[in-house]
Amino acid sequence: MKIRLRKDNKFDNNKKIKAIKNTKTVTIYFSPETLRVIKAESEKSPYTETGGILLGRKYEMANQIIFVVFHTSGPGPRAFKTPIALVPDIDYYNEMLINGRKSGGLDYMGEWHKHPAGFENTSLADLEQVNKIFAEEERDFMICPIVFEKLPAAKGRRTSPHLPVDKDMFTCGRFAIKVFYFLRGSKKMDAIIPKNIHKNSAFYKKLIKNY
Ligand SMILES: [Zn+2]
Repeated sequence: MKIRLRKDNKFDNNKKIKAIKNTKTVTIYFSPETLRVIKAESEKSPYTETGGILLGRKYEMANQIIFVVFHTSGPGPRAFKTPIALVPDIDYYNEMLINGRKSGGLDYMGEWHKHPAGFENTSLADLEQVNKIFAEEERDFMICPIVFEKLPAAKGRRTSPHLPVDKDMFTCGRFAIKVFYFLRGSKKMDAIIPKNIHKNSAFYKKLIKNY
């Protein structure tokens, strides 16, 4: 069994997110079910990190790439969770992936995980983890949403539930989600914040009809 240790004790919130030059617009859609599961799983683990696998489809066109995440999960029954680290149950993730491929032609889109409140960005350990996955597995991209609890209103905090959240994140109950997207072959392992993130939309509804 492959163990993925994701230790978030090396947070670096000051790290600048550099946009990678990409001529294609990247748009990510999340199905309502995916958001429901992320919210429910996050509520189940108020004091520890948690996470899940993202299953969906990639649609590549001339000038844009669209990712649709249809399903997600919790971290699995044998996951190891601490306040600053998550070791997902990889056997469970693999099982989810096999079932997703069989039943709906869905593929691995990445993994979400929950951070302690206030840590909205990927940690250095997260970047190491993405690097490791790219080195070991044949993946071209990874979508890595970070979920965190919104803090009560405080001066200077932009994630207060009373204030509109940035356009690069969205709210999901008492949580906020910031979506990072990693591309293989980019010179640095910096995250791209997708240009468009949609919780639900006419486009999604049209897709789900044919799904
Ligand atoms: Zn993390």
